[in-house]
Amino acid sequence: MKRKLLLITILIIVVNQLLGQGNYQWINKEDSVKIYHGGEKYEVKSFKQDFKAKKPKNIILMIGDGMGVSHVFAALTANGGRLFLENFKHIGFSKTQSAGNYITDSAAGGTALSTGKKTFNGAIGVVINAQGDTVAVKTVLEMAEEKGLSTGLVATSSITHATPAAFVSHQYSRDLDEEIAEDIVKSGVDVFIGGGYRFFSERKDGRDLIIDLKEKGYQVLQEMDEIVKVKSGKLAGLTVPESNLPYPDRKMDLPLSTETALNILDNNKKGLFLMVEGSQIDWGSHQNNTVYVVQEMLDFDRAIGKALEFASKDGKTLIIVTSDHETGGLAILNGDMKTGILKGGFATGGHTGVMVPVFAYGPGAEQFTGIMENTDIGKKIISLLE
Ligand code: MG
Ligand code: ZN
Repeated sequence: MKRKLLLITILIIVVNQLLGQGNYQWINKEDSVKIYHGGEKYEVKSFKQDFKAKKPKNIILMIGDGMGVSHVFAALTANGGRLFLENFKHIGFSKTQSAGNYITDSAAGGTALSTGKKTFNGAIGVVINAQGDTVAVKTVLEMAEEKGLSTGLVATSSITHATPAAFVSHQYSRDLDEEIAEDIVKSGVDVFIGGGYRFFSERKDGRDLIIDLKEKGYQVLQEMDEIVKVKSGKLAGLTVPESNLPYPDRKMDLPLSTETALNILDNNKKGLFLMVEGSQIDWGSHQNNTVYVVQEMLDFDRAIGKALEFASKDGKTLIIVTSDHETGGLAILNGDMKTGILKGGFATGGHTGVMVPVFAYGPGAEQFTGIMENTDIGKKIISLLE
């Protein structure tokens, strides 16, 4: 009787393997291989592809930190084969090497995107000149500001973290959070939503930059339900002392923050520049945690959906979605498009040197195709702003 049962079990396993079904009980042979067991899926809309201008009035740059092609495909599988990203018809690849390093960090990677200049790892909005001094380079956000556009930053990390910092700050090291916070106050950026409250208010120099922000007319808010109610003016949304928690436990909502920022910035007839970062795709990848990566990717894609909603209605908005570098050397080892179950394996706990995808939607999108340097993205944004 026992033997008969065993035979039947083996037969079921073999048949299931042959049919490619039922193999969800994948065994984790190593720590770097983890399974996302599927989850709630969201509906993905198709947006129109005809636009009202040749040159964009508004530019939204969305950075999935650490997002490689495998990260995108992991999310696509997890959401049952659909992503908002599929609305992007102009696609390219970005080479992420920094000045002197095959493997970039997020500071040099962010600076390449924000200034069109290659710099050294760790550098925030600065390069080294011939004399060996660090010199500030104007960022696309600062240029947009000069042109009279409204500007904004949204991130799931601290707002002083490398990626958002690269757009408003000029420091030789990404570790200078308090100096970066000072630069943010000086920058005049109209809207920022993220973490990092303590770098403004609990500082070594004893200053409270929250007072400075309020003097400059910012609505300084810590609760998401208050942040989403803001319709105009300057907004400093600092939801936590440092970084927000991973999705879904964080005190910050990336899609809603994107929507809120766009609504506020859109009050300016001259246009807007907004940078949105899915900061923690990178952190999940450093941890070799497939579940973390997938949840962060899906959250980022829903934020992309909010940007698409705005852009398709507006008709004069360019959205660029890209990454600063790949993290983890993620490989998709197995998956199921129906259930969203996914097996991911990682080659490293660090960054890799592989090209990352570039997606563009809206007027000017055709410029972001082919294989390019990460700095070309910054340069193209600069030329579109001119
Ligand atoms: Mg980042
Ligand atoms: Zn990283």
